[in-house]
Amino acid sequence: MKIFDSHVHFPWGEDRNPDEAIEELVEQAQAANVAHMCLLGSRFGDYNERVSTAMERYPDLFFGLYGIDLDEEGLDQVHEAAQRGYRGLKIILPTKRYDHPDYFPIYAAAEEHGFVCLFHTGVVGGGADYRTHDPFDPELIERVRSMEERSRGRGVSSAHMEPITLDTVAFNFPFLKIIGAHLGIGYYDVACHIARWRRNVFLDISGGEMVRRHVIERRLIPAEISHFKLVYGSDNNQRFAEEIRDWQAIFDLLRMGDEERERIFYGNAARLFGVIPTETFPAPEPAGAATGDGS
Ligand SMILES: [Zn+2]
Repeated sequence: MKIFDSHVHFPWGEDRNPDEAIEELVEQAQAANVAHMCLLGSRFGDYNERVSTAMERYPDLFFGLYGIDLDEEGLDQVHEAAQRGYRGLKIILPTKRYDHPDYFPIYAAAEEHGFVCLFHTGVVGGGADYRTHDPFDPELIERVRSMEERSRGRGVSSAHMEPITLDTVAFNFPFLKIIGAHLGIGYYDVACHIARWRRNVFLDISGGEMVRRHVIERRLIPAEISHFKLVYGSDNNQRFAEEIRDWQAIFDLLRMGDEERERIFYGNAARLFGVIPTETFPAPEPAGAATGDGS
């Protein structure tokens, strides 16, 4: 089955040679039948540049999402990203809620460019997983210290990334193509309900073993959300084949048919990104251009 992976970070490690990282990604993608992937930039480091190089080199494979800083960047960066061939935005860790009106100009510009916006949703991970790690381990403390220092007093919170905020964004920007990451991890019910009722909201299933377990235990698919609104994402850049295999096993358990799998693994993302042309999200009319009836 052909795969569109909607959630792949450019391999982390600023000391890593970007050209080698790109070639490795290409090889692994080919081995796993990944025809296209969203390659995510980041507001940290030079990952947006790295993504830009990757998509120039392999424009069919890599659909770049510009990692925007909602607080420090604005319209200029969105227009520039469009000019440089990015296909959307990756959005995470704002100091205000995603649906704060201060961010609306960015969403409006993204909508105008036909961008796909991939929002992290739910409690953000990173650092160490304290389900399996001892928070009093001195080595671990040393390892997470710089991250803790970076976030001190900045005002970030997972609360700003609650899926319900995407409902506001979806209502106000009905032609903005929205993907909420990780099925809204920790807020599955709300995330699924939004995807159910807002046409322009989709959820990616990235999140590995934990999300797979939750999908089964909490009976999310197809009771709360179906193949119409899910896109495949690995959130991984090394285990392409394994992630696909593990999701196929889950879909087997769910007795999911081929057509449904095709939508999740490929078709929905292919439509969102225009690989499969649709009339689904026409560019909105520029403000003031509508003739209207005055109502
Ligand atoms: Zn991610």
